[in-house]
Amino acid sequence: MPQSSVFGSNRVLKNLLPRHKRKTPPTLADDVPFGRIHTDHMLVCDFLPQKGGWQPLEIMPYGPFELSPDSVVFHYGQQIFEGMKAYRSGVREDEVSLFRPQLNAKRFFHSATRLGMEPVPEDLFLQAVKELVNVDYEWTLPMPGALYIRPALIPLDQGVSYRASQAYRFFIILSPAKNYYAKETSVTVAVERSDVRAVPGGVGEAKCGGNYAGALPALARARAKGAEQVLWLDGLEHRYVEEVGAMNAVFVYDDRIETPGLSGSILPGVTRRSVIELARHMGLRVEETRIDINQVLDDARSGALKEAFGCGTAAVISAIDSFLDGDERIAVNQGKIGTTTLRLKEALVSIQTGKAPDPFAWRVAVQCNAH
Ligand SMILES: *Cc1c(COP(=O)(O)O)cnc(C)c1O
Repeated sequence: MPQSSVFGSNRVLKNLLPRHKRKTPPTLADDVPFGRIHTDHMLVCDFLPQKGGWQPLEIMPYGPFELSPDSVVFHYGQQIFEGMKAYRSGVREDEVSLFRPQLNAKRFFHSATRLGMEPVPEDLFLQAVKELVNVDYEWTLPMPGALYIRPALIPLDQGVSYRASQAYRFFIILSPAKNYYAKETSVTVAVERSDVRAVPGGVGEAKCGGNYAGALPALARARAKGAEQVLWLDGLEHRYVEEVGAMNAVFVYDDRIETPGLSGSILPGVTRRSVIELARHMGLRVEETRIDINQVLDDARSGALKEAFGCGTAAVISAIDSFLDGDERIAVNQGKIGTTTLRLKEALVSIQTGKAPDPFAWRVAVQCNAH
C-alpha cells in the first residue's frame, strides 16, 4: 500500500528488509573501498508513458535489475547520474545533512534533457533522495566519512532501432564513504595533450557515463606515468584547462584564485560553485576565465602559481602537488599542500558536517526516523 511521507507529495511504497536480515554497517575502523559497499535498500521510480508517467517511489532491498539484451540502455548511451553526500550533522544521532541538493536536482534535470531523456522533476528527485537516506541513514559514517548517494537514470525501452526511449528508470543507491582517495594528501596530474574529454556543443556539461568511458585510456596512460588524474584541455586548441579527472580545477595566485569559466564543455560542479562563493566571502578575488596550460606550467616553474587543486563531491578538495607534461614533472609549491587550499577545504567541510555555522543556508537537514 502507498504510504504518506513527510518528505514530499509523491507516493512512496516501502518493501523493507526485516531488521534481522539487514547487514551491519561498517565503522571508520573498517576498510571501506569507495563505492563497493552498498546499503540494505535502493530506490526505484519508473517513468511509464502508458501508465500516465512517473510511478510511485519504491524502496526495496538492494538487488539486480533484469533487463533484456536489446534494451536501449545497452546500446545508445542514454545514461546519466549524480553524485552527492549525506553527512552526520553531529547534533542529533538521527539527523543527517545534504549539501545543496537542489543543485544536484537541477543538474540531473539538465543532464537528462541534453541526452534526450525524460527529466526527473526536481521535487521528485529531492523527495527520493530524502526517502532513501531516511531508511538507511545509519550507514552514514561520521567525519571524515559520509554516505555517498548515487542517483542514476536509464532507459527501459527495448529494441535496437536507434531512437530515444519512451520509458525510463530513475534509481538511487547508497554507499558508506570514507575518503575517495586512499592517499588523501594530494594528487599528481598528467597533462593530456591529445585526447579530449568534451567539445563545445557536446555533452561535457552533462553528467553522463559516456564522458567517463571516453576518458579511460588517458587515465590509464596517466596512471602508468605515476599520476592519479588527467588534466583535460579544451577540445579545439588543446590549450585551455578544462578539468582534472572528474573534478573542477582551481589555481591559486597571491591575490586571487582562477578557475575555468563554464564554457559549455565543463561540468558545473556544486563544489566548484561553493568554493567560488566561499573564497569571495573570505575576501579572495575569483576569476572564472580561460586558463592557458602553458602559462600555468610557467607559473608553477617560476613560483608565481602558489597552489592548485581539484574539487568535487567525492574528495571535496584535492591539492595538486605536481603536473606531468610529457616526461617533465613540474611541482606546485614544492609539492606541499598550500594554506589557501587547506583553508577552503576546512571551511567547506565544516559547513557540510555542521561543525561551523551555515551562513549561506547550504545544509538541508533530514530528520530520520526508525523504520
Ligand atoms: C561530478 C563532476 C564534477 C564535480 O561536481 P560536484 O558537483 O562538485 O561533485 C566535476 N567534473 C566532472 C566531470 C564531474 O563528473
